[in-house]
Amino acid sequence: MQKKNGDVSMSHKRQAFAEEVEHLGEDNSSMAAFETDCGGDSLDSFPHLEEKAPSWQQLKRQAGAGANGYTGYKTDELGALLGDDMSPEDDKLPLDLDEPLPGAETSLLNVPSKCAEQAEEFVKKVWAAGWNVAHHHTLPDWLKDNDFLLRGHRVPTNSFMACFKSIFRIHTETGNIWTHLLGMIAFLGIACYFLSRPSIEIQWQEKAVFSAFFMGAILCMTFSWVFHTVYCHSERVGRFFNKLDYCGIALLTIGSFVPWLYYSFYCRLEPKVTYLALIMFLGTICIVVSMWDKFAQPQYRPLRAGVFVALGLSGVVPAMHYVITDGFWHAIDFAALGWLVLMAMLYIVGAVIYAARIPERIFPGKFDIWFQSHQIFHVFVLAAAFVHYHGISEIANYRLTLGDCIAREF
Ligand SMILES: [Zn+2]
Repeated sequence: MQKKNGDVSMSHKRQAFAEEVEHLGEDNSSMAAFETDCGGDSLDSFPHLEEKAPSWQQLKRQAGAGANGYTGYKTDELGALLGDDMSPEDDKLPLDLDEPLPGAETSLLNVPSKCAEQAEEFVKKVWAAGWNVAHHHTLPDWLKDNDFLLRGHRVPTNSFMACFKSIFRIHTETGNIWTHLLGMIAFLGIACYFLSRPSIEIQWQEKAVFSAFFMGAILCMTFSWVFHTVYCHSERVGRFFNKLDYCGIALLTIGSFVPWLYYSFYCRLEPKVTYLALIMFLGTICIVVSMWDKFAQPQYRPLRAGVFVALGLSGVVPAMHYVITDGFWHAIDFAALGWLVLMAMLYIVGAVIYAARIPERIFPGKFDIWFQSHQIFHVFVLAAAFVHYHGISEIANYRLTLGDCIAREF
């Protein structure tokens, strides 16, 4: 064999080297022969080969350095991936530069794709959590609110993003979310329209008084749909927003009383202030009671319904006051008593349905998604708020057509 010169191609050199190495273990004389054949050239005479073939240690170092900030892999972990059982001798194995590094195509080069896979897996989990639904018995205790709803429950997500995505999915809370989400949008629209009227049409006093009602309605609807959305986040988050939901009901009740009492006792300062103070006091008690952790537990459902119905029914006292001083028919015609009674009936019927959990109690599992008691209760609350808005608008119109307070009214 001719002595190889610099003009001999690399592939010939590699081929010759590889053939010789194959026989290394069998006969040391082969290496000697190879060295002789190559004119004393051993591996040392292929500096470009060694340069281009990185050692395993180098691979592991590079992989570790490159990946640490990317996937969180530690160098040791990558070492395991790359094969820590490689001996230092293996570092010097001749490698075919035209072929991918052994192991590299399944480990090192896959580091970015592993990251991509992990990211994809994470996104899938988040996305799946947004619509995964479960049977009631698989839920953790804190999510077992209504055992007559059997299927279609969301599982705990621990992710606000997953919770908010679930707004657009079908599960046991979809109806609860949308009834009050749309209610909030409706009241926001009405409030914007009312408050943007020119002052020649609606004076600022009217706007201020009606704002109490708009605030109560919008906050109640908002707390409600947000609570039903994030209820499955985690026990801590669910409990916090559940309390806000109850506060919202108390705020709606207080907000509803303000314009009603203001116009009903327009020129009678003493009863007006007394009843306003009373409803604020009772409303505050309701909010304080709502903060009690056990208040939200399923066994206190009738107590909750009772507390909020009692708060609403406290309006019977000023209503009776008005009937006594002004007469029943006057109250019907000019104090929108009929609308107020209708509103009260809607709240009460809604609360009874809520407490009794009808119809799912009668047909468990048949109203898991639509027409369950809580949705009906939400619709009744919404209807009652619209009726109340109509009622207080009538009282305000009547009162404002009378002009200023006259002496006989006190
Ligand atoms: Zn609700």
